[in-house]
Order: sequence, then C-alpha cells, then structure tokens
Amino acid sequence: MAGRPRRTVRKVIVERDSESEESSDEEMENDAFQDEEVDEVLAPEGNGEEEEGDEEERECVTEEPTATPGQGVKKRQKHILISLKTAKVCKVCKGTDHQAGFVGSIYVDCPNRPCFLCKQPGHTTATCPHRIASEHGVTPAPRRQSLGMVDFVHERQLRSKMPKMTPPTVIPNRVDCAIIKLHSRRVTHLEFHPTKDNILISGDKKGQVGIWDFEKVYEKTVYSSIHTCIVGSIKFHPANSDMIYSCGADGTVSCSDLETGMPNVAIDMNPDGWNGPATWRMIYGMDVNPERNIVLAGDNAGVLHQVDIRTNNRIGKPLLIHKKGSKVVGIHCNPADPNLFISSGNDHMARIWDLRYLDMQSQLAELPHPRVVNSAYFSPISGNKILTTCQDNRLRVYDCIFSDLAEPSREIVHSHDFNRYLTCFRAEWDPKDTTENLAVIGRYISDDFDGIALHPIDFIDTSTGQLVAEVVDRNITTITPVNKLHPRLDVLASGSSRSLYIWRPEDEMDDDKRNSEVEYDKKKKATIFTVLDYAGSKKGKDKSFDGDEDDDEDDDIMCSSKRGKKRAYTSPSTKQKKL
Ligand SMILES: [Zn+2]
Ligand SMILES: [Zn+2]
Repeated sequence: MAGRPRRTVRKVIVERDSESEESSDEEMENDAFQDEEVDEVLAPEGNGEEEEGDEEERECVTEEPTATPGQGVKKRQKHILISLKTAKVCKVCKGTDHQAGFVGSIYVDCPNRPCFLCKQPGHTTATCPHRIASEHGVTPAPRRQSLGMVDFVHERQLRSKMPKMTPPTVIPNRVDCAIIKLHSRRVTHLEFHPTKDNILISGDKKGQVGIWDFEKVYEKTVYSSIHTCIVGSIKFHPANSDMIYSCGADGTVSCSDLETGMPNVAIDMNPDGWNGPATWRMIYGMDVNPERNIVLAGDNAGVLHQVDIRTNNRIGKPLLIHKKGSKVVGIHCNPADPNLFISSGNDHMARIWDLRYLDMQSQLAELPHPRVVNSAYFSPISGNKILTTCQDNRLRVYDCIFSDLAEPSREIVHSHDFNRYLTCFRAEWDPKDTTENLAVIGRYISDDFDGIALHPIDFIDTSTGQLVAEVVDRNITTITPVNKLHPRLDVLASGSSRSLYIWRPEDEMDDDKRNSEVEYDKKKKATIFTVLDYAGSKKGKDKSFDGDEDDDEDDDIMCSSKRGKKRAYTSPSTKQKKL
C-alpha cells in the first residue's frame, strides 16, 4: 500500500448526511443539551477552586449524572433548555454584569478570574504572554540539568533501539477528505487499523463505532450494536486485526468482529441494568497488552479490571488504582517494556504500575497534577518518556521514566481547558517521530485566521515547547479535540463534533493540481464544505467492510464526481512554522 503511486486527482471529498456543519458555538450549545460525560471532567475535584464550568451545565449533569442508556433524554433536554434561556450570567463566576466564555467564537475572560489560558493573574487570555510566545510557555524543571547514573544506564540501553537517522518533520496540513456527520453524536476516539492503511475506526458519545475507508471515502459502516453510550477507547486485537476491543460508559469491555459488529462482552459492570447513578459503572480507560495477552480497563470507581485475550474472560481481582470513587480516564501500556503501564485519573494523578507486582499502593511512581489528567502516554518507540495532558492547560513532559517523576522535565502552556461540552483534549505522540518529540493536540480557544475564528490543531515539539505548526481549515469552525497521527503514513485523522477529517501534507499535491485548485478557489468564493452528492452511496456500503484494498478508489471517486457536483472546496489558511 505504501508504495502505491499518489493519486492524480485530489480528493477533497466530503460526504455528509444533511445540512452543513454548525459553527463551534452552536455545536457546543447543542452538544450541551445532551452531554453527560463532562461533569466528571469539569467538576471532579470537589474543591471548587478552579471551577470554570457554567452553572447550568453543572446543574443539569448533577441531576442527570450518568450515561443512562435509553433514559431521560427528553427530560434532560427540556431541563437545560429552560436554564439556558434564563442564563444571562457570566458562565465562569456567575456574575450578572458581564459575560465570559466564547463571545462569537472568540474567548473572553471573566474579569474576576486569572487568565484562562495560563491561570496566572494580571492579564487576560487575549494578552497572555503564553499566547503569543512561539514556545508556548515552557517551564523547565530545575532537575533537568542533573542526570543520575540510572539515566545514563537507560540512555545507553535505549539508544541502541533508537534509529540514528531523524526523518524530516512532515505536517499533514490540508484536509484531503472528510465525512461530515458520520456519527450521530460527537466523536470521542479514533484508531487506525494496524495493517490496512486506509481504515479508520471511530467511536462516539452515543456508543456508535464507525469504520471508514478514507481512500474510498464512501466506504463506511456505523455500528450501534457494540456500546450504548460513550466509547472510551478502541484497540485492535493483537492477533486478529478483524477484531477490536472497546470500552464504554455502559460499563462494558467487549471484543467485536468488524465484519458483523457483534460484540463478545468480556466485562459487564452493570449486569443488572440501570439502578440509579450510585451503582452505575462506566469504563473509559482501556489498553491492550499484546505481550501479556491481557486487556487492562479502568472504571469510574478507580478500579482496574483485566481480561485474558485468549479466553476473553476476566482474570485477576479488581484492584483500586486511583482514589476510591474517582474515574480512571486512561490506561496506556509501555511499548518497550510489557510489564509497565500508566494510568491517569480525575484524582489528579498519573501512576506507573508493574504487572508483575500489582497491588494497592504498589505503583512504581506517582505523577501528581493540579487538576484532572486527561491522558498520560509513554513515548511510542522507547517508552522512556511520558506526555500528559492536564486540565490546568499544561502539557507535561517527563524525559525519563527511570528518574524522579515527582516533577516533570517540562511544562508547556497550551489551551485545552474547556468549559463547554466537548470530548476532552489529549496530546498524542507522533508514532513516526523517532526522536519522540512531536505531539499533536487540538486547541480550545480560537484565533483569527483571515477574519475567521478558528480552533487550530497544534503540532508541538515537546522537547522545546515550540509550536511547530498550527493547522486549520477555514471550513472547520468547530473545535477539534480528537486527533490521531497515522502510524505509517503522513496522515492526520481528526474528529470534530460528529465529523471526521483526513489531513495530508500540502506538499504531496503536485504543482499542476495545486494551480488548478487555486484557479478553482478563485472562481468559487463560497467556503462551505458541501456534499458531493452521491447517488450510489447506498450500494451496500453500510455492511461493506471487507478490507478489500483494490486499486479502484480513483474510479470510485471519479465516478462519484460525475454523479454529483463537487462544490465549494477552498484552500485553507494554514500557518506553519518550521523548527
Ligand atoms: Zn465572571
Ligand atoms: Zn496568561
């Protein structure tokens, strides 16, 4: 696949089911009517000192706190509609003489609170020094200068595994194709197929799992049979790439066949169904450990569960790995050492564990954070670094897992704290970057791009904090919290609201094509993604995942183009800074 010649016809092809995608503001308010996840992201602390969520939302989720399959939707919508209509107060401090949050699409600080971006007093987000600094506000930790003996030993051991050649940094900065509103609710998770380059798996807030062949664009399947609410994580079966493991806020971990969408449930935390929020269990964090043949999953009570992949049965005893009653939001197995995994939770902690000695309080290390840790990932090749995303608007980088992890090596100020209903932001490593420096993360606050407020996807060099590139497309006005870089290709997949986008480097387009696009752009001023009307989209596509990667995708696309009208794709405004 990798060696296949590039297409000669650029496929900025967009499919969507109905009307155009809404603006970010609209989208978020709509989303707010229906969300039930974010209460635990926004208000997990209980100390109240850093609340930015608005009262209406918080109130609503308190009353309707859990993901309740098939229950209470009408009641919830009604309730929130009322409160939103009466809301003319500041969403941050509840003051009545001002408004804060997104006004239009620009973020306005509450005058009674410190800077929303860096959390320091004395200025606003608009004037924040970290907003305009090219280095995104790096805070070096003092101990970075002093490497101990252990550091040197492991540097030596790991160096041999690291490729000597450093490939050039390639940024996928142009939307290549998109599928608008594939999901019925916002996207929560993305995962590339381990061997079939064109296949992207996605999960959403309603529990749907999507399979999309983005080379064929219209090859898509959406299963509602696997989960009934929020898909937390999706990982491929290590021995059978037609199977996925996934977990959800319905409290299940299951192994599902991608052909049929039929789940084989390995864990069901709610065998007796819904008996109120006190007993309902949800699972958000999950990873597969191929060497040990286990699936690790963490629930919303702070408990770790294990599944033996060979039998699909639970093994071991449930183990409390985070504060009792707090949510385990993420689990990641170390790519180099199968004994290690890291968990992150809304008890403000990330913890490293050794599977050979797993007991309460037996963690190898604790990484304390000031707020909820959305994610903690080992670096993709050596597994020697850790990158965390914390709700305090900081990315934290730990350069060596064998050193003292009480302090990060670096903190990078970045806007991903949010006070609306969104999938929480997670900084993800570039799996192809052998230097293990490049990471991608969506940005919450917007910036002005040629008169349009857009929320970029940021590429950050985690070794310096430098913003390598901010990628936008002026047709995407929604916030893009879910991003995944392809393990082999220069491709970025992003999930924004209910839609999926595939980005590729602009340089891959040949000059003729680019020129003709410029001409095309000049003719077409309109800047809205529109449907490539696709008369044939019904031809059995909903069950057509067979992984058959033949070479007729261009025919398919051309064929589609003839049937429909390709309209209104225009060039994105993309700023890119070279290192
Ligand atoms: Zn205020
Ligand atoms: Zn600031």
